Amino acid sequence: MVVGAGAVAQVTVCKLARRPDLFPEIVVASRTFSKCKALAEKYPQARIIPEPLDADNVSETVALLKKHKPALLINLALPYQDLPLMDACLEAGVDYLDTASYEPPELPLYEYKYQWAYHERYEKAGITAVLGIGFDPGVTNAFVAYAARHLFDEIHYLDIVDCNAGDHGRPFATNFNLEVNLREITQVGRYYQDGKLVEVPALSVSRDVRFPEIGVRKAYLIFHEELESLVKHFPTIRRARFWMTFSDNYLMHLRAFMNAGLTSIQPVDYEGCKVVPIKFLQKLLPDPASLAPNYKGWVSIGVQLYGIKDGKPRTAYLYTNIRHEWAYQDCGSQAIAYTAGVPPAIAAELITSGEWKKPGVWNVEQLPPEPLLERLPAAGLPWKVVVDYPLDFTDIPE
Ligand code: NDP
Repeated sequence: MVVGAGAVAQVTVCKLARRPDLFPEIVVASRTFSKCKALAEKYPQARIIPEPLDADNVSETVALLKKHKPALLINLALPYQDLPLMDACLEAGVDYLDTASYEPPELPLYEYKYQWAYHERYEKAGITAVLGIGFDPGVTNAFVAYAARHLFDEIHYLDIVDCNAGDHGRPFATNFNLEVNLREITQVGRYYQDGKLVEVPALSVSRDVRFPEIGVRKAYLIFHEELESLVKHFPTIRRARFWMTFSDNYLMHLRAFMNAGLTSIQPVDYEGCKVVPIKFLQKLLPDPASLAPNYKGWVSIGVQLYGIKDGKPRTAYLYTNIRHEWAYQDCGSQAIAYTAGVPPAIAAELITSGEWKKPGVWNVEQLPPEPLLERLPAAGLPWKVVVDYPLDFTDIPE
């Protein structure tokens, strides 16, 4: 059962619908029923059952789970729905996965503590939850786990680098849910250094990063949730940072929105109505899924690592490069939704086949990375690993 019918869900459903041998029946449940119905009509060869659902309502979800008895719930709604959906899965005894960590609506704090608190209860109930299985988080976690198993004795430095060099022809748009995306980018920048979280003002630290096929782009330090789980599960990592590129045009618009208060999550009173500025902005700007037909260019996402192997220093770069046009050709989507939507479909296969079935609540790096990474190229996400890549680790103090 897929919850949500937005940009990312459309890709996951596209992939699940091609495997009737594994997924003979797919329930698509979301707030706007017409979007669920549209997906059922788009893939007539699959048995897709559309259902309306308010995923904030636990008993409504439990009733739907009891009605259809799915093997797994794939949460592709928004981070605010993570906890109610995890509660519903616990009550109905259904495995769970998502692509973004829970976030309280009133506080853009990306912390796994809320979801990690479910571990014992899931373990006791004999059900599996896999957290953050999109691309970043998701495949990036699997890249680090793969590198820790096969390439390094110890990893010391981690930079996750994410570049969308595509052009959609619109003056300004976000590539996934605007509210979630801008909350993430406009919060204070944070990274891990020697076990501590260091804070810097939002978008105040940048560096040039060279991306395969793309060239050098300016990337900005932002906080991303996988840093928290990766430094916990690989305690030799001394510093972990996340870098994302933004064009000057994107930042010019973003700063204007920020200065005007349009990215605020605090409600304002407008002629007697409570209006949340960022939700209003979302209404005005393009739906990320609508960008797909005209989107062109490369996306590159990867992890850059520095550590020790056999007593010698080593670097490695594991990355995926794909073009927006390829994503459109395969699933009618743009590449950001595609990179986020393909991994949950593979994870669904791994959980239902038993390869990733393990009672408890897990981040991706705690599960074997090979079955996921082996399946990525055939699913549309090729990846490469380059050892001793000439990475810019000049700011490393050793
Ligand atoms: P969209 O806004 O396009 O889609 C979200 C969907 O969830 C919509 O169909 C929406 O319904 C539905 N929804 C929202 N609230 C509820 C609710 N209370 N009950 C039922 N359905 C609800 O977002 P995206 O597809 O862009 O993003 C989906 C998720 O993927 C987000 O959590 C995002 O953070 C994550 N993501 C993860 C990435 C990764 O690599 N790990 C990358 C990109 C995104 P409606 O249609 O009515 O609005």
